[in-house]
Amino acid sequence: MEIYLHNSLNGKLSHVVPLDGSTIRMYSCGPTVYNYAHIGNMRSFLFADLLQRVLRVVGGFKVHWVMNITNIDDKTIRDSAIGSKEWRKEMGEQSNDPLDNLLKFTSFYEKEFFDDITKLKINLKHFYKIPKATDYILQIQDTIKKIYNRGLAYYSAGSIYFNVAEWRKIDIYGKLFKIDFENFRAGDRVDSDQYEKEQAADFALWKAKKPGEPYWEFEIEGQRCDGRPGWHIECSVMEKEILGLPFDIHTGGIDLKFPHHEDEIAQSKAAFGIDPTAIWCHNEFLEVEGQKMSKSLGNFFTLRDLEKKGIDPLDIRFAMLSAHYGSVYNFTFNGIAAARKARLRIQDFIYSLFDEDIDGSDKVDEDKLKHNVFSELANDLHTPKALAHIFTFINNTDPKSIKLSSKKKLKAFFLELNKIFDVWQLDKKPEEKILIPNNILKLAEERFQLKKEKKFDLADKIRKEIFDSGYVIKDTKDGYEINKIGE
Ligand code: AMP
Ligand code: ZN
Repeated sequence: MEIYLHNSLNGKLSHVVPLDGSTIRMYSCGPTVYNYAHIGNMRSFLFADLLQRVLRVVGGFKVHWVMNITNIDDKTIRDSAIGSKEWRKEMGEQSNDPLDNLLKFTSFYEKEFFDDITKLKINLKHFYKIPKATDYILQIQDTIKKIYNRGLAYYSAGSIYFNVAEWRKIDIYGKLFKIDFENFRAGDRVDSDQYEKEQAADFALWKAKKPGEPYWEFEIEGQRCDGRPGWHIECSVMEKEILGLPFDIHTGGIDLKFPHHEDEIAQSKAAFGIDPTAIWCHNEFLEVEGQKMSKSLGNFFTLRDLEKKGIDPLDIRFAMLSAHYGSVYNFTFNGIAAARKARLRIQDFIYSLFDEDIDGSDKVDEDKLKHNVFSELANDLHTPKALAHIFTFINNTDPKSIKLSSKKKLKAFFLELNKIFDVWQLDKKPEEKILIPNNILKLAEERFQLKKEKKFDLADKIRKEIFDSGYVIKDTKDGYEINKIGE
């Protein structure tokens, strides 16, 4: 099926066609590994996962999906520094080498991140590559030199800045985001990785080393600028190195449109002469009471916080996939409970398809169902409408009356659907194990011994006692079986 996606470059639907004729190359801005990711972050990764699965299953494409790990930026440096109270025992001892500390610190959170996304059924096997910024320093330095040599960057006090005013003579700065240049003063500089659009200014491609920070040696036209890369250039370089330019789709949360993605476009075009990607696709926020979930606001939950509250990660996955990625998702515990109910409703229907004892007489139009559901997914990942088709179908279908041949086709459909949602068991309903209390087990054993000793009166007394507690004993060839009354 043909896939259409909302493209942030023009606000319109773009038809997804592999630029190289065969493979969709897709880059997602990954986590900054300075702490546990919260479930707002997870929304953006679940969205990217949904997209790559729809491209494979509905679009029939081969996909090369790359997601980076930001392991060097303002926050990872700040929190891995000697004496930081964010340092944890599990990371080992701090050393005198800031780079060694940074790598220990970030590898810890990287591993935790992989554990979390695995629980959310983001499958590591689906990635083409998960690059880390610190592995691309030479290529980053090379790219900065290219920009510098074109007169689009300048040196100042050991750092290198992108010259926005010069760039604007060549191309638009503000392809994703309307920037008001009224307050923009050429030559104003911004050093931090994250800033507001009102602070649009020349941004750092490379930052001069500060005491106690990790750094790499670097020199540009005889000027020493030992230091480390800015956050935006890292993505420009990794995507080019791994996927080649231009590639097909770039994803991230809407907060990354400016400055991160706007700067990415400017740098990539300045260095390589090419707009990096055909389609920019951004997910909306996960909010709590009207505010973006974020570390800085302190209104966040990590996956492990929610697991401790007894929430199944599959319900979080399903809840987030049930909403359209382009709308704000309002996080509530009731919302997660409702998602669980909906997920299990579909699960029960799937279980009933494996009940093959009864052959009904009704045929069902599974082709129509599949067409309806997949068309919605192909249309900008419209999961709410896709699921609405499924619920209408389930609500109007009595599984007992379906013909076996139709059940088989329906199973095949749900198997395919689960390649996208990945939250159901495609199997017979597992038997629920009834836990027999210890005191009953003990009584049953006593009775068994008494029977062996032919003390039948006493044995019968115990059988009654067990019965009065709600359990029945059935003698078998080799011993006995205990069941709850009525099961
Ligand atoms: P970070 O680890 O801060 O670099 O963010 C990783 C991803 O999470 C980025 O794509 C962000 O845009 C996204 N993100 C951060 N907060 C939220 C949120 N509350 N809702 C949805 N996406 C978010
Ligand atoms: Zn990025």
